[in-house]
Amino acid sequence: MENRIQSLLSEILHPETGKDLVQSGFVEHVAAAAGKATVVLRFAKARDPFAIKIKNTVEETLRRELPSTEVLVVVKEGGAPPRPEPKTLTSTGSIARVIAVASGKGGVGKSTVTANLAVALRDMGYRVGVLDADIYGPSQPRMFGVEGYVPDAVREGDQDRIVPARSMEILLMSIGFFIRPTDALLWRGAMAVNALKQMIHQTQWGALDFLLVDLPPGTGDIHLSIIGELKIDAAVIVSTPQQVAVADVVRGVEMFRNENVAIPIAGIVENMAWFTPEELPEARYYLFGRGGARRYAEECGVAFLGEIPIVQSIMESADDGRPAAGIDPRVGEWYRAIAEKTVEKVMTNGQ
Ligand code: ADP
Repeated sequence: MENRIQSLLSEILHPETGKDLVQSGFVEHVAAAAGKATVVLRFAKARDPFAIKIKNTVEETLRRELPSTEVLVVVKEGGAPPRPEPKTLTSTGSIARVIAVASGKGGVGKSTVTANLAVALRDMGYRVGVLDADIYGPSQPRMFGVEGYVPDAVREGDQDRIVPARSMEILLMSIGFFIRPTDALLWRGAMAVNALKQMIHQTQWGALDFLLVDLPPGTGDIHLSIIGELKIDAAVIVSTPQQVAVADVVRGVEMFRNENVAIPIAGIVENMAWFTPEELPEARYYLFGRGGARRYAEECGVAFLGEIPIVQSIMESADDGRPAAGIDPRVGEWYRAIAEKTVEKVMTNGQ
């Protein structure tokens, strides 16, 4: 239903610019359940002269096309955060910044950080997409509760477009929608890179402020091809405290700094920085040492974006398909701080 509404909205054009509402970024939120649908439109300008006219058109269209659904259209004005300048990157719309989330090895929480960072950016008012490029273990469909989603292809002009999944107002495309996990090891580098390129260019992202790319863990040749092909603007590196002591995170930083790659590093996130048991919310146990990632970041001249402890809700909500940053206010705050720093870094990178 939500996809149907999105596609109806993408047929409504702004009277002045001639661009459709989805592409113009006016659609902040669409939710539908049990015969009811809510559409939130946001206009950057306060008192946009076209706001009322557009609201009426949306109401008329949805009531006509979905006669058995009760439709509520809400208009919000202003208040959107300063957006990065759009770069036209795909033929389906524009993505302002592509941010890769990387880690030197698996299991450090890279996918969890990607999903929660996406939610925190959404909560700041940005339009966010996630591309799950982790060919070895795509886990975004599970994190966002859209496992089993089968992407539709639609014809637009003479091009085929892939319809992304949508969860918590975040658009999601995953290599996991196309391959079975057991097949991942059979993927040759070029095959995976081609599939990912297609996913970035042909997905109906509309207008996005940030596309987060959940990279496969590690720093091998396939990573170099992926980051070379996907036009990444900045990288966030996820590390755990004990990982800092070993060479993985160093290799991660070096991969992006390699002269053939030269992608700015927005900073390092330290995940699993300490452990707080549910019954002792004030206690902090630094199981793997303390402050390592911050020190390492300083030493190598990379920003330290923040730290996230080990908490049960992060793990549980990943399994429930709703990232904790959108549910647990404490986690929401930690990620908000990381998201703000990331945006600041990415926007001031001189790009
Ligand atoms: P990666 O993408 O680096 O392989 P995942 O994001 O899949 O790692 O995380 C590995 C496991 O650790 C998952 O079960 C996830 O729920 C859990 N996890 C990650 N970060 C945290 C955290 N801060 N607190 C509790 N569990 C976490």
